[in-house]
Amino acid sequence: MEYIKTDRNGTKIFYDWTCTRCGGAGQSDAWKFTGKICYECGGSGKRHNPKIIKEYTPEYADKLEKRRIARMEKRIAENPPPSQEELKAIADGVQKNKWKSQGFKETGTGYMHSGNTYANRETLYRAGARWNNYLKAYIAPEPVEGLSGIEIHEVHAQELCNKYDYIDIDKAEEFLKGVLNNE
Ligand SMILES: [Zn+2]
Repeated sequence: MEYIKTDRNGTKIFYDWTCTRCGGAGQSDAWKFTGKICYECGGSGKRHNPKIIKEYTPEYADKLEKRRIARMEKRIAENPPPSQEELKAIADGVQKNKWKSQGFKETGTGYMHSGNTYANRETLYRAGARWNNYLKAYIAPEPVEGLSGIEIHEVHAQELCNKYDYIDIDKAEEFLKGVLNNE
């Protein structure tokens, strides 16, 4: 290493000329099949441009560390991570959207329309109803009146959905059994 200078902060600056490929040796027996000589430095063991090495005084190193922490704190203050309340609000929003995409209201309440669904599918869809394959029925945010051959049951996403907020096959089967037993 070549000493260059000491700056006003007491930092000593060195140049490291050691070739990064051969480590300064200029050649190696490991490369005997291609001629031993390091092709990076041409055998000199030195780099074309030195690596700059800085040696700080303990006082200045401490100052730099404090500056680094201050910069990091400023960055966090300017762009704080979401709070628990915000994260919960985001999760709630995602949940409501998933419920809505399956025909429920934002509250999780919905109306299962079963029976002669195929003939009424367009009316149901226009009313915001969505088909569920497990229930073999449409779920709509409100009861759709005046349809022939349709039975309506109030349902709740909180009871029918899995932890990912999608209707669960087992819970759907359980619910349908309950509906049949009450008839
Ligand atoms: Zn080399």
